[in-house]
Amino acid sequence: MTSDVMTRPAVLILLGPPGAGKGTQARVLEEKFGLVQLSTGDLLRAAVAAGTEAGKAAKAVMAAGGLVSDEIVINILRDRLAEPDCAKGVILDGFPRTTVQAEALDVLLGETGQKINAAISLEVDDAAMVTRISGRYTCGGCGEGYHDSFKQPVSAGTCDKCGSSEMTRREDDNAETVASRLEAYHAQTAPLIAYYNGKGALQTIDAMGEIETISGGLAKIVTDVTS
Ligand SMILES: [Zn+2]
Repeated sequence: MTSDVMTRPAVLILLGPPGAGKGTQARVLEEKFGLVQLSTGDLLRAAVAAGTEAGKAAKAVMAAGGLVSDEIVINILRDRLAEPDCAKGVILDGFPRTTVQAEALDVLLGETGQKINAAISLEVDDAAMVTRISGRYTCGGCGEGYHDSFKQPVSAGTCDKCGSSEMTRREDDNAETVASRLEAYHAQTAPLIAYYNGKGALQTIDAMGEIETISGGLAKIVTDVTS
């Protein structure tokens, strides 16, 4: 990277399936590097609330039940990147979702001589993710979390903390649903991974380990790509 890049906000994209801990890791990066996480939903809501030109355009489309166009999202992002709190850089979450959007983002960043510092993919083992997520259950009495494989109560079916036997599972945490969520994620993300790999901007990190290990690896990547 040239020294020029150092004076410009870092632009990072975080890719990862539901359950990979993307939100947690984004918060760690925000704290450690002073970055701002920007999700498409938050961007749209904020722009509509602020009544910017792009916000008004988005509001009209949403009021008519339509999907906000890539062009409007890009305009909202352009406004947002210029705000002072984004001076150190941003973590994009949920945008781009398609290679068309990725190209539009490259054009936007090119307006100010910028480019993506890195697209970081949180890599998971699908089978292990299914086990991890579908095994979760919670005590209905006190909210204590348990797991079929990793954390059973001492006495089966009875909460260690409060003695309740009312255990609940989230309906969408069953194995089939988790597997199909992962499949949808891979199908949607594969073109983006290929796109950023082709640009030499792709970074991958094993997201199956301890949260602190993953955070450490991410911090190293962010340091490398922004200095
Ligand atoms: Zn309990």
